[in-house]
Amino acid sequence: MDTNLTSPWQERTTQQLVRYEAVFKLLDEIQQTESIEEIARRVARHWKYFANVTCWRLLLPKDEGFQVIDGARGEAHLANVRTLDAWDAWHLSHQKPRLVRPAELIEPPFPPEHLAGKAITDIQVLPFVRLGQCTGLLSAAARHEPFNELDVKFIRLFGSHLTDRLSSIELRRQAMNALVDKASRDALTGLLNRGAIIERLDTQLAHAAACGEPLSIILADIDFFKVINDSHGHLTGDEVLREVSRRLRAHTFSSDSLGRYGGEEFLFVLYPCGAEDVEQAAERLRRIIAENPIKIGAEPPQALTVTISLGTASIRGHARPRLEELIKRADDALYQSKGAGRNRVTIG
Ligand code: GH3
Ligand code: MG
Ligand code: MG
Repeated sequence: MDTNLTSPWQERTTQQLVRYEAVFKLLDEIQQTESIEEIARRVARHWKYFANVTCWRLLLPKDEGFQVIDGARGEAHLANVRTLDAWDAWHLSHQKPRLVRPAELIEPPFPPEHLAGKAITDIQVLPFVRLGQCTGLLSAAARHEPFNELDVKFIRLFGSHLTDRLSSIELRRQAMNALVDKASRDALTGLLNRGAIIERLDTQLAHAAACGEPLSIILADIDFFKVINDSHGHLTGDEVLREVSRRLRAHTFSSDSLGRYGGEEFLFVLYPCGAEDVEQAAERLRRIIAENPIKIGAEPPQALTVTISLGTASIRGHARPRLEELIKRADDALYQSKGAGRNRVTIG
């Protein structure tokens, strides 16, 4: 008797064991990997070995929109989107599993291009729902052979685990960002705090000097703020500080930075911006405070004219002055604005 001959039953069992091995290996790997890109790449490479999935899309909620991960030909492609295509939008709103034969699809929604190739036999659509919220929407496609029962079980098990893993990485990223953001914000005004704006200046100063690009800073200080506190109370003083901050922030370009440097002092970092342009920027900031009185108190509100004094300093070329030196120059210019009657800009 030939002992090397294996029965069809043995062969099937061995094949199944290989598939179990593959799924457990991948589950293990994604548990130990922190990068969503790396996880997506590994899944794209290995999913076909245990569930006949050759191309797939996983949709995950992210910030205000979604992260779309497309897997095909052993590669993964990630994108952040605000709006969904018809396929994802339809399945997301229905939130029900669905087995689709692309060849029989006669009406929309049609699958995304990489799930609609000729050899695609099945698309298994699975929403994963936690506490009534859809945490992931998977569309997994089979090529040549339709999915069998075990394939579908593996897709459900692995898809659910993958969604949970990616969601938990995303949640941790959000919590981390919120913590970092909180630590760098001033509680009263919501602007960057002193430490954060100085750190930003330090980084951009190094960058500007290395690239030979111009950088400017503006120091702004509310005029006679002590008088506002003394005549209207500290709470009104806080209200004024918040409104001044709001206006300054609204008129700061998104590429520039603004922080609360001290009690009623603000530091702007404008990069790239040279001495020729900083005067115009500072003048614009001066006007948006001085030209519109701030309403304080309620019923009836009182209009309070508030002004700020400003001083600037700039660098150009590859010169890299010490940070303290640059701030001192802006502070000296600010001091001159105060001495010359306040509510004005001095170029340092
Ligand atoms: P100048 O025009 O020369 O700048 O005069 P000033 O009164 O604005 O300057 P001074 O430095 O004499 O007073 C600043 C005041 O700002 C004193 C301080 O109590 C007040 N201040 C600092 N931080 C806060 C804050 O968070 N809230 C309030 N309400 N007041 C603050
Ligand atoms: Mg002041
Ligand atoms: Mg001051």
